Parts: sequence; C-alpha cells; structure tokens
Amino acid sequence: MIDELLSGNEKFKNTRFKENIKVYTELVKGQKPPVLWIGCSDSRLQTGHMTNTMPGTLFMHRNIGNMAPVNDWSLATVLEYGIRHLKVQHIVVCGHSDCGAIKALDKDLDDVYIPNWLNNALEAKQRVDAKIKKPSNPAEAKRRSRMIEEENVRLQIEHLKTYPLVREAINKKQVQVHGLYYDLETGVLSKIV
Ligand SMILES: [Zn+2]
Repeated sequence: MIDELLSGNEKFKNTRFKENIKVYTELVKGQKPPVLWIGCSDSRLQTGHMTNTMPGTLFMHRNIGNMAPVNDWSLATVLEYGIRHLKVQHIVVCGHSDCGAIKALDKDLDDVYIPNWLNNALEAKQRVDAKIKKPSNPAEAKRRSRMIEEENVRLQIEHLKTYPLVREAINKKQVQVHGLYYDLETGVLSKIV
C-alpha cells in the first residue's frame, strides 16, 4: 500500500503540483488560511476535494465525530494557533452522513478509549430522542441519524464557544462560526448553522 502512496505522489508531483506550481511556490513562504476546519476523521471525506479548495485554505483539525470537546488540549492548541497567530476568519464544524461516531452512540462498546470520546456527542443523541418517537423502519432510522449528526454539529459549536478565546474572537467580530453538513450520497455540502 505504501508503494501506491509513493507512486501516487510521483503522479501528483508531475501533474497537479506542476500545473499549480505558482500556488505551491507561494505556499513555501508560509500559510495564511482563512478557515479553521473541524471535521471528522472519516476516510471518505477529502475536505480539499469536496470544497474544491487549494492547499493553504483550510487549517485542519480532524477527529472522530468532528468533536470540539470542552477540555481538549489538542483542539485548544489548534484554536489558539489558528485564531491568535494565523488569524483565521472562519471556524467551520462539519458533520457528515453515515458518521460512524454517531452510529456508535447506540452501541455498547467494550473499547478502551472510544466510549469516553463519544460522550462528547451524547447530548446530541439525547436531544433528538427526546424530540422524536422511536424509529420503526430503516427510513425513520436514517432520518434520526441525520438529525443527530446535525444536532452534533450544533452541540460542538456550543462546546467551541466555551473556549474564552473563541468567544472573544466572535465578540470582536474577528471570527465567524459556521456549521456545515456533507452528504456522502449526493456530494452536497450544506450550511446548517
Ligand atoms: Zn464521521
């Protein structure tokens, strides 16, 4: 597999890299991304592709379930660097369809780390289940998953706003926070918050 990655890189170097050499040369000097993107680790999400953006645009933070936990040093560091140093103007939390993290909220897992991590999204499931009746067919189950995936985006934005530096940047109108949702079936990225 690693050979495929390396030969893929060879191809990339000789095509897209060469065709966009001006952009890549400029990027050698440094980055000034306008967007901090918090997305899911899911391998089906190629963020640059689905937004048709070039390298240098999205400052990325990805984890399972596109979470913004209230006590997460990794996220806190990304936020501090992104907001204070890179001066991003937008923060995106992006959820997606068929998210394994959301599906796993209904499972009893005996893993060591995953259940703890998923607790960050538990409230999204609770909010949706309090609002709708128990799904009785696959279509309703799918609709419920989508509702939880979208509610999780709203919940993570709430978590994000518990960070004083995020609140401060929003109040000073330096940063806008957005919630997006990507549908794997249609390739459509839509704004939900
Ligand atoms: Zn996911």
